[in-house]
Amino acid sequence: MSETINRRIVLAARPQGKPRPEDFRLEEAPVPEPGAGEMLCRTIYLSLDPYMRGRMSEAPSYARPVGLGEVMTGGTVGQVVRSDLDGFAPGDLVVGAGGWQDYALFRQGEARKVDPGQAPVSTALGVLGMPGQTAYVGLREIGKPEPGETLVVAATSGPVGSAVGQIARIRGCRVVGVAGSQAKCDFVAGELGFDACLDHHAADFAERLRAACPDGIDVYWENVGGRVFETVLPLLNDFARVPVCGLIAWYNATELPPGPDRTPLLLRRALVRRLTIRGFIVSDFAPGDFLTDMGQWLRDGRLRYREDVREGLENAPAAFIGLLGGENFGKLLVRVAPDPTR
Ligand code: NDP
Repeated sequence: MSETINRRIVLAARPQGKPRPEDFRLEEAPVPEPGAGEMLCRTIYLSLDPYMRGRMSEAPSYARPVGLGEVMTGGTVGQVVRSDLDGFAPGDLVVGAGGWQDYALFRQGEARKVDPGQAPVSTALGVLGMPGQTAYVGLREIGKPEPGETLVVAATSGPVGSAVGQIARIRGCRVVGVAGSQAKCDFVAGELGFDACLDHHAADFAERLRAACPDGIDVYWENVGGRVFETVLPLLNDFARVPVCGLIAWYNATELPPGPDRTPLLLRRALVRRLTIRGFIVSDFAPGDFLTDMGQWLRDGRLRYREDVREGLENAPAAFIGLLGGENFGKLLVRVAPDPTR
C-alpha cells in the first residue's frame, strides 16, 4: 500500500441482475489530508456484506444508494495515521464506514476505537460488529426465543446466521440451520453445535426440514427468502415469530418470480397461525448489552465465529459477487493492509 496514493473502488455502473466486475472501477487518487476535526485512517480490513447489493441499485430502500462514480460504501477496521480529533491518536485502531479504499477520513462520531486486547480487531466487523448486533437485537426484539422452542435460520455459516443460532442455543432452543453445502453444514452442526443443519440444494430438503423440526417451528429467522421460506411456511407454529432480516435469494432479481400470486396463501397462514412477521434494520434498535453479552460468550467459548479473509482491495469486487452466490464460508473480509495486531 502506498503512503501517497489512495486506491479506491467506485461504482462504475448499476448492475442489472447479478453484479459484474465491470460494474466496479479501481481508481487512484492522492491520500486525503485530514482537516480540522478530522482523522485519516489506513484501512486494514474491509467488510463485504449483502446489503451492498441494495446500495448499488436506485430502487427505493432504507438507505441512499451509492452514486455512480462514488466510492463503494462499507464497514472498515483501520489504523489512525493522522488525527485532529479529540481522543484519537496515530496508531489507534478504529471501526467505521471507511468504504472500499486504502484511506478514509472520519469526523467525530463516525468511528469508534476497538481494543485488540478484547478480541481480534476483525471481529468488530463480524461477531462483535454490525452482523452480530443484528442477530442480538433482532432476537431480543422480534424473535424472542424461549427455552424448548425450535428456531430455524438459513445462511447459517455466515456472521448473522451463525450468531442467531448460537444465541438461540444459549437461550435453550432447538436450533436447525440451513446452508448451501455439506462442508458448511458440517461446520454448523459440528463446530457451532446446532442440533441439525440441512443443505437447501438437496432435492429432499422439504422432507428433511420437516423431520428436523418434529414440533414445528417457533422462530424462523428470515435471511434468504426464496425456496427456504416456501419450505418453512407450512411448518410454522401458532404465534411463530419471523424476524425479516434479509432476502438474499432475491437481491439480484430483476422481476417477480413466475407462477401464481402466493400472497393469499401467505396472509391466510399469517392469520390462521397468528404469525408475527416483522422486517427490521439493525439500527432500529439500541444495542443494549450486545457487546457485554457477546464478548462474554466469546470468552466462555459459547460463541464461535468463522472468517473468510481475501487478500487485496483489488479482489473486493470478485469476492462480493461470490458472496451473493454463497461462495463465502464465514464472515467475508478483505485484508487491505497488514493487520498490525497479528
Ligand atoms: P452471509 O455471509 O451469510 O452471506 C450470504 C449467504 O447467503 C451466502 O453465503 C449463502 O450461504 C446465502 N445465500 C445466498 N443466496 C441464497 C439463496 N438463494 N438461498 C439460500 N441462501 C442463499 O451474509 P450475512 O450473515 O452478512 O447476512 C445474512 C443476511 O442478513 C443477508 O440477507 C443480509 O442482507 C441480512 N442482513 C440484514 C441486516 C439488517 O439490518 N436487517 C444487517 C446485516 C445483514 P449458503 O451457501 O449457506 O446458502
